Amino acid sequence: MAYNPENIFAKILRGEIPCKKVYESAHALAFYDINPAAKVHVLVIPKGAYVSFQDFSEKASSDEIADLIRAVGAVAKQLDIVADGYRVLSNAGANGGQEVPHFHVHLFGGQRLGAMLARA
Ligand code: AMP
Repeated sequence: MAYNPENIFAKILRGEIPCKKVYESAHALAFYDINPAAKVHVLVIPKGAYVSFQDFSEKASSDEIADLIRAVGAVAKQLDIVADGYRVLSNAGANGGQEVPHFHVHLFGGQRLGAMLARA
């Protein structure tokens, strides 16, 4: 799938729509999810134009990949959810239920998060 620069996270990156920023690094931005599914629910996205986890894994530079992973850890620390634990998740494509076609990682915490997946 080609990257669509009109997706909502691209607009956030361009400053066209606001976000509640949590953290920013050279290659990543973290902000609160607008419709939180847990007490702490933050999205961490690369600044580069990548559609999905798959796209990011294949095309991003090592610097971008390291920066995104470090951003997730830095946000967890900043929001004080390391000691109690947290969950990192990325939905990719149709089966994954991905809604926004700009790669993002969900960071959940602040409460017991329950089962990893609803059983089929
Ligand atoms: P996904 O299903 O993995 O693509 O998740 C997309 C996430 O983006 C959902 O959890 C939405 O609540 C969230 N979201 C959509 N629009 C915005 C926005 N403008 N600001 C923050 N989060 C958003």
